Amino acid sequence: MPAPAASKGPSNLPVVGPVIFLGAPGAGKGTQAMIMAGRYGIPQISTGDILRSNVAQGTELGKKADPLMKAGQLVPDELMLAMVGERLKQPDCQRGYVLDGFPRTVGQAQWLEEYLKTASFDGRQMAPVVISIEVGYNQLLQRLTGRRSCPVDGKIYNIHFQPPRKEGVCDSCGAQLVQRKDDKEEVISERLKSYESQTLPLVEFYRRRESLRQLNGEKPVDEITAEISAILEGAAGGH
Ligand code: AMP
Repeated sequence: MPAPAASKGPSNLPVVGPVIFLGAPGAGKGTQAMIMAGRYGIPQISTGDILRSNVAQGTELGKKADPLMKAGQLVPDELMLAMVGERLKQPDCQRGYVLDGFPRTVGQAQWLEEYLKTASFDGRQMAPVVISIEVGYNQLLQRLTGRRSCPVDGKIYNIHFQPPRKEGVCDSCGAQLVQRKDDKEEVISERLKSYESQTLPLVEFYRRRESLRQLNGEKPVDEITAEISAILEGAAGGH
């Protein structure tokens, strides 16, 4: 696959194509996905966020997903594939997108592989860049129990490592920060178990396709951001 930096879309921003962030809950996928989406002008597609908004709106999908999410279990593939298939068809996906939290099972990855054979980015087919952000178990626990987010602008904080200037309040917009229901300790261990049994096999799935880049997710956020940008722009031999 050619390096994305070589090709520019009509807006003069690079055609990045599909980017997949793999990693345990709390590895920093959401943080990096948000930065990359802003930097390259492509959407961040967080399946967790889409599901949470369905739950908040009380849709049929939300009603089915809610008890599973509360228990730290995965939502069945058939529901996820319909939801993601709909999202990827939207016009803002033409130069690429950052998938945050999808695929999460081998079945989802196989579906995406088939889907990408029919999709084009600025007129050409592109294989996904798959970035696995790797963080040790104890660090993940601290990150998840300390995570707070702004319900208005989505900014993520951590009460242990990256607290807001004023306790409980978003630095940028002043909104009251919230803790995700599934970031409570009882649910976290279930989520980490789902990750190990269902999502970790994806690392092997993508390694076999030689599209996997593994990063140490315990480095400072800025360093990880720089590494990911280098991969996406082809400087590190990505794509
Ligand atoms: P996240 O915000 O990515 O941590 O996702 C929160 C929860 O949403 C997960 O614990 C699952 O219950 C559900 N979920 C999100 N993405 C997926 C997916 N790709 N497949 C199945 N369930 C998902």
